[in-house]
Amino acid sequence: MDELNLKGKVAVITGGAGVICSRMAKSLASRGVKTVILDLDGKAAAKVAAEIENEFKLPCMAIAANVLDKTSLEQAGKEINQKFGEIDILVNGAGGNSPEATTKVEIMDGSEDPEDTFFGLKTEGFDKVFDLNFKGTLLPSMVFSTDMVKNRSGVIINISSMNSYRPLTKIVAYSAAKSAVNNFTMWLAVHFARVGIRVNAIAPGFLLTNQNRFLLIDEKTGGPTPRGQKVLNNTPMEAYCVPEELTGTLLYLASDFSKAVSGVVIPVDKGFSAFSGV
Ligand code: NAD
Repeated sequence: MDELNLKGKVAVITGGAGVICSRMAKSLASRGVKTVILDLDGKAAAKVAAEIENEFKLPCMAIAANVLDKTSLEQAGKEINQKFGEIDILVNGAGGNSPEATTKVEIMDGSEDPEDTFFGLKTEGFDKVFDLNFKGTLLPSMVFSTDMVKNRSGVIINISSMNSYRPLTKIVAYSAAKSAVNNFTMWLAVHFARVGIRVNAIAPGFLLTNQNRFLLIDEKTGGPTPRGQKVLNNTPMEAYCVPEELTGTLLYLASDFSKAVSGVVIPVDKGFSAFSGV
């Protein structure tokens, strides 16, 4: 038996036009999975879908939808069912941080402008980041798992982060939301355990992407910011991760290789989460 046989399955990848999830969609397509690139940015989704069709000679759908709008997800579900059939795999990749929910100061000493600290955070910024990462995982799971329950078979893979284990300084809303994603991963894994759906998460280490470039790379010099240097110093394998390094774990979790695995969050982080810094 080929445990990695995913041929003919249908996978929805939210945030599928982004850096990490476009690569994940391609790795699923390389195994014969019919992929759906669901993203707020319809143009970028169409571009990724065209690349996949071209490279893997497989149908790929691009859908412009908002993971925070249940009606738009339900509409997407109908389109997918009509064109590709029932959904087998969901990757909840839409997510990210925002400068509006980020403090300027890492650790207060009391002399700073309060605006640069915890006290300067805007609740709207906090809500935006928390909702995108947490509700943006919850709602697609609710909408796209109905086929899986009917078929008593399916896989949900959430995308978490290093800050879900221990919060990173500055990014309070993002840390809280990714922690909530881990908790939800376990909760839903238990809830779905008897209807044949496995729910797991991947916690990527640090990658250089749109959401964190402003924190890790100095715009003027192009070199690492002090924070970027700290990340590298605390990564035992001494490098940022790249999206290709996440696909092995994705295929493992999507396939029968992990058929007894549910409710776990797997770090793919070059040792970051294991390292105490000393
Ligand atoms: P990215 O910004 O490249 O991709 C995110 C995608 O989500 C974008 O295409 C964006 O258009 C889409 N999106 C945003 N809001 C949406 C919404 N409301 N509805 C639908 N789509 C929406 O980011 P990325 O770095 O590839 O991140 C992908 C996932 O990985 C995120 O969940 C992120 O939190 C997580 N992650 C990233 C890193 C990192 O270092 N980059 C590390 C750990 C975890």
